[in-house]
Amino acid sequence: MPVVTSPAAIAALFTAIVGPDHALSGDAIAEDYGHDEALTARMVRPAAVVRPASTDEVAAILRAADQHRIPVTARGAGTGLSGACIPRADGIVVSFERMNRVLEIDEANCVAVVEPGVRLDQLDGELGTRGLVYPVYPGEYSASLGGNVSTNAGGMRAVKYGVTRHNVLGVEAVLASGAVIRCGGKLIKTSSGYDLTQLVIGSEGTLALVTQAILRLHPRPAHGATVLAPFATLDEVTRAVPRIVASGLAPLMLEYIDILTMTAMINQLGLKLGVPDEIRAKAMAYLVVALENAHAERLEEDVQAVGELLAELGALDIYVLSPSAGGELIAAREKAFWVSKAAGADDVIDVVVPRAAIHAFVQRVGAIAREHETWIAGCGHAGDGNVHMAIFQKDSERRSRILRQLFEAGIALGGAISGEHGVGKEKKKHFLALEDPTKVELMRRIKAAFDPHGILNPGTIFD
Ligand SMILES: Cc1cc2nc3c(=O)[nH]c(=O)nc-3n(C[C@H](O)[C@H](O)[C@H](O)COP(=O)(O)OP(=O)(O)OC[C@H]3O[C@@H](n4cnc5c(N)ncnc54)[C@H](O)[C@@H]3O)c2cc1C
Repeated sequence: MPVVTSPAAIAALFTAIVGPDHALSGDAIAEDYGHDEALTARMVRPAAVVRPASTDEVAAILRAADQHRIPVTARGAGTGLSGACIPRADGIVVSFERMNRVLEIDEANCVAVVEPGVRLDQLDGELGTRGLVYPVYPGEYSASLGGNVSTNAGGMRAVKYGVTRHNVLGVEAVLASGAVIRCGGKLIKTSSGYDLTQLVIGSEGTLALVTQAILRLHPRPAHGATVLAPFATLDEVTRAVPRIVASGLAPLMLEYIDILTMTAMINQLGLKLGVPDEIRAKAMAYLVVALENAHAERLEEDVQAVGELLAELGALDIYVLSPSAGGELIAAREKAFWVSKAAGADDVIDVVVPRAAIHAFVQRVGAIAREHETWIAGCGHAGDGNVHMAIFQKDSERRSRILRQLFEAGIALGGAISGEHGVGKEKKKHFLALEDPTKVELMRRIKAAFDPHGILNPGTIFD
């Protein structure tokens, strides 16, 4: 088996497939290709960056990489938060930026067929004019659909519409050998053998490279409203969440923001909540409830009902925000990661627990923070039980112990270490230590069946 190791030889191998302009090496590789947005991630320069334009080119790239045992890391927009698209120095990045076409919007079947490099904002622009929406809404709208599929992205609207895996009906994917598979389709159900679409979703580029995704679309409701409710304690907020979900009011978003995060958002982003000072002084946490409806009068009824429920659940006051103020609040919530980063956070994690256990989990987080004299600020997709925590602890060993305790606390409550960001490279050691070894072994065998030589994103999820 021929093994190519020098960066120049590796680049030359792929130049033959994509042409000299799209097989980059040396200084032509921009720093961005070597990292994602994980706060703990360190940049690694790959031997080459290869930018295919078609499924055939992806297949040829993987055939060559497999033959020469060259590690391959797929890259969408690089907005991931778990270090999953950090390449190996002896490997290549396959960047999907040129495969960025919305291939079809099939209104009769309510599906879109997209290439992996399509960005969420691009797709939303094309769907908006047709009264349709692809509802998965991770906070970073520059993310690619390929990245979303591979991380099983979630975001603020999951409480109503589910996450990526509930909205992807099929994929075209290239195996490590270069073979192309098509799974699922424009159909909303199949019961025909193992569901390979679902196996590929969330596999963080370790099983196959996604070259097309078939997305489920929904009608875009014309009317929306945002309700903000400050509470005197975080305790009351977390207890309120399951009640709101069970109310049948089907919130589009149900987010919580603790006082540390809200204060940072107000200070850094100049966010104006319109909440009087005397209420702000008492508020220790906030709930944001977004609602939508095709009919304005039904939306008004729902807003009224949510307001009454929030009052019953102990809100200090209830604010129905104007469309512009609501938009600003949601935009600020989307920026919570950047706000935490600017405030000096050392890591951001996203433990998920059953939503009725958020209350117990958040109490445990408080105890862990006190034990380690560490600030842990939180906000998150409360409706999904997904708690995002910014950890302010410079000492990396101590931080690692804190993370381990937080992950253990989530798992003990029936949760998982990540609700949507993925395991990547940054959480791998905790994942491998805490996950059931029988399941990890089974995952390794699945990985070997897809990728016998282990070329796809080595170091992500597994060692
Ligand atoms: C400010 C901010 C807010 C965020 N908020 C959320 C949020 O609310 N919810 C959420 O879920 N995420 C959130 N994220 C994380 C991030 O946006 C998502 O993980 C997103 O899905 C990553 O997409 P990407 O295109 O940037 O993927 P990348 O970071 O480029 O890659 C992510 C993973 O997908 C793999 N991959 C990429 N393309 C392919 C492909 N075609 N085939 C196979 N594997 C591929 C990569 O190898 C890597 O393993 C946020 C990030 C930021 C910066």
